Amino acid sequence: MKKWIILLCIALISSVIVPNSHVEASGNFQDIGDSHRAVTEISYLVNKNIINGVTSTHFVPDREVTRGEAAAMIGRSLGLNGTKRDTGFKDVGAGNMASGYIVELVNKKVISGYSDGTFRPNAKLNRGEMAILINRAFNLGGTNSSNSAQILMDKGIAQGMTDGSFGTNVTIIRSDFAVFLARTLNADFRVQSGDTSIFKTTQYVNVGSTTLNMRSKPQITNSPSNVIAKLTHGQAVSVASYTGNWAYIKVNNLKGYVDKSYLQSKKPSAVLPILPPAAGNDITVIIDPGHGGSDPGADGFGFLEKNVVLNVGNHMKAYFDKTAIQVKMTRTGDTFPSLTERAQFAGKYGGDLFVSIHANAFNNSANGQESFYYSSRAATNPYTNQSKALSIYMLGRMQEAWPLVNRGVKKGNLAVLRQNTVPATLVEMGFIDSATDIKYIQSETHRKNMGRALFLATLDYYYHYEGRTDLAQYYSVAGSSPSKRLH
Ligand SMILES: [Zn+2]
Repeated sequence: MKKWIILLCIALISSVIVPNSHVEASGNFQDIGDSHRAVTEISYLVNKNIINGVTSTHFVPDREVTRGEAAAMIGRSLGLNGTKRDTGFKDVGAGNMASGYIVELVNKKVISGYSDGTFRPNAKLNRGEMAILINRAFNLGGTNSSNSAQILMDKGIAQGMTDGSFGTNVTIIRSDFAVFLARTLNADFRVQSGDTSIFKTTQYVNVGSTTLNMRSKPQITNSPSNVIAKLTHGQAVSVASYTGNWAYIKVNNLKGYVDKSYLQSKKPSAVLPILPPAAGNDITVIIDPGHGGSDPGADGFGFLEKNVVLNVGNHMKAYFDKTAIQVKMTRTGDTFPSLTERAQFAGKYGGDLFVSIHANAFNNSANGQESFYYSSRAATNPYTNQSKALSIYMLGRMQEAWPLVNRGVKKGNLAVLRQNTVPATLVEMGFIDSATDIKYIQSETHRKNMGRALFLATLDYYYHYEGRTDLAQYYSVAGSSPSKRLH
């Protein structure tokens, strides 16, 4: 192996080992995928330390909730003192994980024991008992299982069973309990499907010359797609509620979810002319600023790779924002998406092209620029030729922007390239610990010029390799024109 393989982004390798605390904190359980119906509510409660997994890796959503667990979760929701202590119940010792919350909730008359002096902490909770518990704990007004259930339904906290009943005697499972608790704590989670009268607020779509995807669930699913309609600029919709970043809306008797950031209360003015009209709006470029968060990447002269690559990525995006070509970034702040998350990002968010931005370091003794593509025959990523061409155009423009040593277009067995699902390149703009290269890396003006170069290289790839002459007009955004054909 050549030396550069080793020196390239040592942090890329170490980041595989370092546990990703961000993912843990948001409740990324192996049995709660992104499409699980309760993933938003569970993450919300995990982040508030109200609910835990059964283990650090598994939430076990279908397990029934016990009275002890319910007491602990409600106690934490109310911010009660959970310090373990004697309870007075003969079947709840001071060592029981819920003992403190049980004492507090009994004192508040939210929950009570049985006449035989037991609390029965391991008894399964049913939906009727849950309704009463939530009503008493949050002072919603219910006094028995019947009126408590009705109040929860009226407030959009709980829904009935498919047979129309509330299911008072049905035991409740952890995922449902999480949903009800999240909706109790945060009205944004409340949803009342089936009742058209809840769509009370008129809002207007503001998407310029593109369209807004309306989805069957509050999540992005592309294969199979859950897009049920495409809404246009200025269209009026009726909003029922908001769940996280999603608005639950109705349009022409069709109900579904849209990204709420594209809605506004005033009817927007006619579509602003984007020049030229929507050429390339079928393309989504994924920009991947390397490293981030606990992984700084390379460093030199007081500069950290994670910061300069994010800065360049933002400059690159700013050029695309003047076109109809869409851009999504794997990170927009100082966070660390895992390498797998980066590699899967394009597939997940409908990306068509992947550009990972990096800077090198090697004991102050190397300098120059290079770009990488994954070239194995047994490629997981089949776009070998495309990725190579993309890498060629990248290095061409990088050389134009910063006149550093040309280390060449190289093959690289890198996870973000190998595991990707679209044409992918990784660029090393220069050596952050090189006295020569740092003159460019440290300068905001030069970094903007590098963002421009990566923008132009993307256009070059589409123009020459994919034959997208319709994108030629976008070179004017950066005062440039197509490169020579290089691939
Ligand atoms: Zn790097």
